[in-house]
Amino acid sequence: MLEKLYSRFEWLLVKADPVLQKIGYEKLDRPFAGVEKVTKGFLLDSQSCGQCIVGYTGLSCPMNCPKKMRNGPCGGVRPDGRCEVDPEMDCVWVQAWEGNKRLHANNYPIQIVQPPVDNRLLGHSAWLHELQKKRQTISGLNDDAV
Ligand code: SF4
Repeated sequence: MLEKLYSRFEWLLVKADPVLQKIGYEKLDRPFAGVEKVTKGFLLDSQSCGQCIVGYTGLSCPMNCPKKMRNGPCGGVRPDGRCEVDPEMDCVWVQAWEGNKRLHANNYPIQIVQPPVDNRLLGHSAWLHELQKKRQTISGLNDDAV
């Protein structure tokens, strides 16, 4: 349900992008980041890294990993699936694997290698960052077509 909700929301954001651009991403960053912190914090225990990859990790936020692993578990996961560093918590990557299996029966986006965390984006809006990336990709494709 969350994934469907997000894809609707993403579609809306893409449609609204020309207006958002006119207002200016810099002006919008703080309010957007604030809304994200509350909603994604509540729903996904998001840590507001500003470069969200939960779409690839079965909706498990990897920034909750004490070692901030972005591409799978550290290798120290306990036999019961708990974290090596904090035995009170489940390993976020065990949760990610299970979540990914539930969401993507035959397709494992979790296997796509993610770039390292860009600390300049911490606390900024991941939604606006994603929109910017999409726009750059599209304009790159258009440039290639010319
Ligand atoms: S066991 Fe999992 S959550 Fe704990 S440090 Fe390793 S990867 Fe991170």
